[in-house]
Amino acid sequence: MIRLARDLTRDDVLAIANDKGAKPFQARALVEAIFDKGLRSLERATFLPKDVRAALESELALAASRIVDRSVSSDGTVKFLHELSDGETIESVLIPDGDRTTLCVSSQVGCPVACVFCASGLAGVRRNLTSAEIVDQFLFAREHLEAEGQRDTDQRGRRLTNVVVMGLGEPMLNLDNVEAALRMISRDLEFSPRRITISTSGYPDRVVALAARALPWNLAISLHAADSRLRKDLVPTATKEPRELVAAARAWFESTGREPTFEIVLLRGQNDRLADADALIALLRGQACTVNLLPWNPVAGVEPWIATPTDEVVQRFAERLESGGIKTTWRRRRGADRDAACGQLRLRHVHSRSESY
Ligand code: SAH
Ligand code: SF4
Repeated sequence: MIRLARDLTRDDVLAIANDKGAKPFQARALVEAIFDKGLRSLERATFLPKDVRAALESELALAASRIVDRSVSSDGTVKFLHELSDGETIESVLIPDGDRTTLCVSSQVGCPVACVFCASGLAGVRRNLTSAEIVDQFLFAREHLEAEGQRDTDQRGRRLTNVVVMGLGEPMLNLDNVEAALRMISRDLEFSPRRITISTSGYPDRVVALAARALPWNLAISLHAADSRLRKDLVPTATKEPRELVAAARAWFESTGREPTFEIVLLRGQNDRLADADALIALLRGQACTVNLLPWNPVAGVEPWIATPTDEVVQRFAERLESGGIKTTWRRRRGADRDAACGQLRLRHVHSRSESY
């Protein structure tokens, strides 16, 4: 049976390599290449004799997924659809923006939280991703950029600068695997933890527990509204109050020294009124944080009352927050086909195969 290398221990891989005829120093080099350097393809293990590589192919798989679709937006955003070993699909998204190149990774297949505006939650959740499947998205993106760098394209010379766990899924519901994957990305693959952000829709207890163990990752909390009832309209499964999320963010700041971000997906006529901004000012007063406004990216299949506010409304909302002493950021949507919110490519794929959910 073929096994996924990153689900095995170093000793397991060593034993398999020895068994397939690798010399001890070659087996050790293979273990280092896989676990420390992120080797994804046995073809690239040129330090092994050809016959050993061929024998290993039948027993050891290095990549946890293969790319079955990709879509490129006019602004250069690339979405990858990964097919996992059991046929499930997830997305990762590469977003070039000035000097930054951000990778958005998924943490679950689908999402059980079911926020009313989000493509990822529309079909529920299928399962958690393994840590190998999360790391794989990172490795794939890095490899993709390296390959692009050798061609004469817009992506030339780009390196991954940021990783955000903002793809499909709720990371706090798969925290063990997410944490293991991020540790591997930051320690073994030498990607600065300061450039990694975990985004959560709630789960204050887990945020507080993670704060005590976390490497210096960044935290984003998807708050959406200061008013409890309004928030529940948008995140129907939420059981915690907005003030509990704010308290968790404070605990995070106190234990990591890193300022959290609150994300607000702005929906026309729902949570984009000046009174909503005032409620946020009251809730966040004195809190070290930034608010990031995300004008809603249209998603097919959501309720008809969900719509995107105009830029003017978003600007006014941002100014109101700023005048209330809250650091606020937001970005105008660029290309008309920009749909950086994860989940849509997968949904199209799932629907086209008409799977039953
Ligand atoms: N489940 C986590 C992380 C994934 S979602 C969370 O909710 O935080 C990452 C961010 O994208 C969240 O802030 C979410 O509210 C936002 N988002 C989801 N769908 C969106 C859409 N259609 N338009 C704009 N932002 C969206
Ligand atoms: Fe899940 Fe986040 Fe989408 Fe809500 S916004 S359904 S928590 S992925």
